Amino acid sequence: PTMAHSKALLVLENFIGGKFVPCSSYIDSYNPSTGDVYCRVPDSGKEEVEAAVKAAKDAFPIWSSKSPMERSQILNKLADLIEHDLEAFAQAESKDQGKTITFARTVDIPRAVHNFRFFASSILHHVTECTEMPAMGCVHYTSRAPVGVAGLISPWNLPLYLLTWKIAPAIACGNTVVAKPSEMTSVTAWMMCKLLEKAGVPPGVVNVVFGTGAKAGEALVCHPDVPLLSFTGSTLTAQRITEKSAPHCKRLSLELGGKNPAIVFDDADLSQCIPTTVRSSFANQGEICLCTSRIFVQRGIYSEFLKRFVAEAKKWKTGNPSDPTIDVGALISKEHLEKVRNYVKKAQAEGAKVLCGEGVDPLALPPSNQKGYFMLPTVIAEVKDESCCMQEEIFGPVTCVVAFDTEEEVIRRANGVKYGLAATVWSSNVGRVHRVAHRLQSGLVWTNCWLVRDLNLPFGGMKASGVGREGAKDSYEFFTEVKTITIKH
Ligand code: NAD
Repeated sequence: PTMAHSKALLVLENFIGGKFVPCSSYIDSYNPSTGDVYCRVPDSGKEEVEAAVKAAKDAFPIWSSKSPMERSQILNKLADLIEHDLEAFAQAESKDQGKTITFARTVDIPRAVHNFRFFASSILHHVTECTEMPAMGCVHYTSRAPVGVAGLISPWNLPLYLLTWKIAPAIACGNTVVAKPSEMTSVTAWMMCKLLEKAGVPPGVVNVVFGTGAKAGEALVCHPDVPLLSFTGSTLTAQRITEKSAPHCKRLSLELGGKNPAIVFDDADLSQCIPTTVRSSFANQGEICLCTSRIFVQRGIYSEFLKRFVAEAKKWKTGNPSDPTIDVGALISKEHLEKVRNYVKKAQAEGAKVLCGEGVDPLALPPSNQKGYFMLPTVIAEVKDESCCMQEEIFGPVTCVVAFDTEEEVIRRANGVKYGLAATVWSSNVGRVHRVAHRLQSGLVWTNCWLVRDLNLPFGGMKASGVGREGAKDSYEFFTEVKTITIKH
């Protein structure tokens, strides 16, 4: 219900052509840890997207002709400004998304800062190719140029982190952008807009339109003057974006969902593996595309693993996200919490065992958080590979643990889902680690660790987990158009 909006509500505005502009209608945005509406987000549509694309088109000639060095300096300045306000950004991200203040402080906002610094540096180091054909008297070389207006669409789980992972390479390469953050987590993008002028980003280079996917997102996807789209979100939305953009033959980068396995062999160092796998299952409430949700444990160590894993999971404290001692905050929305809970119910109905968490352990919350969207870290065992809990992305604090016997078998079972984003392998046998890593259908494989990233290298998924890769070279290639030039002398 649209409540009487008091002055205390935070009201966001679109950022178009270097100016904040109000919108004719707004959407309510909730604080997931209290269930209260605390912010109003513009409900943009075609008109707002049209204005933003025009501003981006107008800014393109000047921005694209600046030297990489000039653009690099501006990106570094923006990184410094965000870093200067790190605490304010972290507080806002935690309140808007439900994640813990600790996660926002140590992961989200530092990474957003790093995204700008990283691409400010990497843009200075690309080289193009050259080949010679002496017999023909020819040299060939490639040149790369920015493409134009990039449409950037990002999800709610790592709001500023993932948005800046797109904005930074897009503008470093000389494109101008129209970004559409998730309607559920728009606040930090709006805060970033306030810093753009001071950083020296010319008006129109970065435009942000807020609103829903169906209205604002689709208007951007269908706009004829937006030749490239970088999207991070669900596989279902990616299918729709692909369909809608097909008549324009747009260039697409799609970073999608996962159903990531962890494979634990009997020679694994469990003292490392268990805390890391608890973290990979429940960090950010399990709302990270890279989170582990299927844990395959070799039969000989299965019972010991399960006992220790559940004990470790129970140590994770769920509660008020602004309390720095809390490990698990609130899920993004009431609907999402319901969806995640339903997966647990379905597993139980199929005969699986819930060993801790949802429906098993009591969840004690402070009075102010009683209406928040909380759920305890939940471990499920004795679940069949065909079960929806083992096949579909749950995107919450739920992980399944199952036993396996042989290497051959576990590779087949790990690959037996439609997704292929990330996998982890735990073993002290180097040969086995390489063998298994090569055979997993997964864009990323971590062995004896999780979420250790070098931004230079490709990031992205196979199968239903995505199309294309992001990273120093990959994002550069995506956000530039290459030309091959032949000179006869
Ligand atoms: P989502 O697909 O619902 O929404 C993502 C974004 O797309 C939002 O901004 C949304 O408003 C917009 N959108 C929705 N419908 C649209 C349409 N028809 N046209 C244009 N835009 C539209 O995803 P979500 O629920 O926000 O995020 C969770 C999903 O994101 C999970 O599946 C998760 O795995 C995935 N994800 C993937 C990665 C990765 O790097 N591979 C990273 C984070 C999240």
